[in-house]
Amino acid sequence: MIIGVPTEIKNNENRVSLTPGGALELIKRGHEVYIQDGAGANSGFPNEFYEEVGAKILPTIEAVYDIAEMIMKVKEPIEPEYELIKEDQLLFTYFHFASYEPLTKAMIERKAVCLAYETVEKADRSLPLLIPMSEVAGRMATQQGAKYLEKPIMGKGVLLGGVPGVSPGKVLVIGGGVVGTQAAKMAAGLGAQVTILDVNLDRLRYLNDVMPPNVVTRYSNEVNIRELIPHMDLIIGAVLIPGAKAPNLITRDMLKDMQPGTVLVDVAVDQGGCIETCTPTTHANPTFIIDDIVHYCVANMPGAVPYTSTIALTNATLPYAIQLANKGWKKACQENKELELGLNVVKGDVVYEAVAEAFDLPF
Ligand code: NAD
Repeated sequence: MIIGVPTEIKNNENRVSLTPGGALELIKRGHEVYIQDGAGANSGFPNEFYEEVGAKILPTIEAVYDIAEMIMKVKEPIEPEYELIKEDQLLFTYFHFASYEPLTKAMIERKAVCLAYETVEKADRSLPLLIPMSEVAGRMATQQGAKYLEKPIMGKGVLLGGVPGVSPGKVLVIGGGVVGTQAAKMAAGLGAQVTILDVNLDRLRYLNDVMPPNVVTRYSNEVNIRELIPHMDLIIGAVLIPGAKAPNLITRDMLKDMQPGTVLVDVAVDQGGCIETCTPTTHANPTFIIDDIVHYCVANMPGAVPYTSTIALTNATLPYAIQLANKGWKKACQENKELELGLNVVKGDVVYEAVAEAFDLPF
């Protein structure tokens, strides 16, 4: 199969959908890989790295779309790309169709085959192509929180690990899923005292077993949240209710109970946020202050660490990309239910129920 990797043109997107290592695996299996000039540069992969493994560099995005049977991307196509997409072309990328009607309509019109990373699903209902980005965001949440606790950037002036003779900082992680677990692990590693809240008791049991002694678990409810927040230095929001807006677990009135300079990192901001006062921010301007409380609410946290994020994403997508390239999308989806669940729009038809429902389209 001929695989094309365009440069991401969405604002501030520095990732690329395939590493040179991934390209080699496809080439070894007899496929051709075409990379747009400079597509990997911001992730630390210059053209030469791709050429060394046998991929070919094309000068323009048009040339990539023109030649490829499968386009591998990171973000959903944006408007200038719509007209480049050809009938029957396979697009393997994040789409998040249900959140943007014009994209859905455009893909229907182009009659492409749209296989969305975010709906590829395993039998245990986990989402293997979303997990790596949650892992990145979770680990980053603690790193960013630690940074914004510094006084010159309006934080409380607390070093999370403390020093001999000084108590470590206190971190509250709300939601003990993928993001929360990684955030807690990083905070514990720095030496902080960490509390994880969740409503899933099985999850709390698991975390209680595997986390180091400086991490404790509590059931997530309003009483416990109100009791804990006055003592915290860093609060990380990491809840997810699949298919729904995140619940506001930290409400506006709770800010007055926190100490000035407390840092809030709402990773769930992309689902509406679990901290009432959080509104999405960008890497260019990541924080704002309300009532002396620092808010960090960047909606695409992994975008700031494209080297790590690109490799993490490719590790997860490559096995699926190989199946698609070896067998073609139809056979690959017939033989692998996980991939079949990734199909959202196929040659003009919406084939994913939640997307059809979102825009009242036939299914
Ligand atoms: P996950 O499903 O693995 O974990 C969510 C956890 O929240 C679950 O353990 C669930 O039991 C728990 N939960 C649900 N209701 C709760 C409540 N009331 N109190 C406490 N816990 C509760 O999800 P995840 O992969 O960890 O993702 C978490 C959030 O982070 C999602 O909204 C996701 O979209 C977001 N995310 C954001 C970025 C970013 O860049 N900002 C990147 C990746 C993921």
